[in-house]
Amino acid sequence: MTQQENPVRRINTGEAHSARVYDYILGGKDNYPVDKEAGDAMCREWQALPVHMRANREFMHRAARYLAREEGIRQFLDIGTGLPTSPNVHEVVQEVRPDASIVYVDNDPIVLAHARALLTSSPEGRTAYVDADMRDPDAILGSPQFQELLDLREPVGLLIIGILHFILDTDDDHGLVQRLLDPLPAGSFLAMTIGTADFAPQEVGRVAAEYARRGMPMQLRTQAEAEAFFDGLDLVEPGVTQVHHWRPDADQDDIDDRDIAMYGGVARKN
Ligand code: SAH
Repeated sequence: MTQQENPVRRINTGEAHSARVYDYILGGKDNYPVDKEAGDAMCREWQALPVHMRANREFMHRAARYLAREEGIRQFLDIGTGLPTSPNVHEVVQEVRPDASIVYVDNDPIVLAHARALLTSSPEGRTAYVDADMRDPDAILGSPQFQELLDLREPVGLLIIGILHFILDTDDDHGLVQRLLDPLPAGSFLAMTIGTADFAPQEVGRVAAEYARRGMPMQLRTQAEAEAFFDGLDLVEPGVTQVHHWRPDADQDDIDDRDIAMYGGVARKN
């Protein structure tokens, strides 16, 4: 863990933050009253928000398991990790491949403060945490953690899950994803979820307004815009779908499409 400064000093308990709002709505404990207030306000605007967030998290489980099990991937770069919530990426993939290495990245100081819970690798594998911003790919790719854990002669699974709606097109969203993919060899994969208002425009629009009002502007994307992030890559079946339709487990059958504001897809780099 890089820790040039004490993370606790950077934690602002007076403002809601996306990682803690997500944690609160998923039923976690690592949040402050201001995050609870924000989460409650958002759930008043859209009651399906917890269903939507759980479905996003479960997409991560299935996509990571798919990459480890079906595609043999044993190195992962997870951008926008979030607060540790079991199972985390390393727990999912090391169950299949105990020797897997995972580099976690988030820019929230409270995630950094809790990162110890992500450093519980199996003895055969490795995990590391990078305190960095997705908008600064050089900081991620140049970090000792990235360079030491990931062997770029072997494929890598790049996970960008539940974060892209915080990356605006004015941040050069496509360029950032491309910069992270560039150093990864052929046979690597991108697994990504992308927020959308296509299925419940009014409700999701109100939730986005609540985030924006609290200093977290959000960009929602259409199916065509979501698919464009995979241009030049080979999407695996079933392509870009709402997350609960992507290789669902049996218990995802009864989720209502209107309750899910997230597209997901997995694609191979050639
Ligand atoms: N990937 C996890 C967590 C998603 S919550 C999951 O899908 O379950 C979104 C996370 O992205 C939060 O932890 C937030 O701190 C992080 N995040 C938001 N903007 C970021 C940025 N620009 N750089 C790095 N992390 C960011």
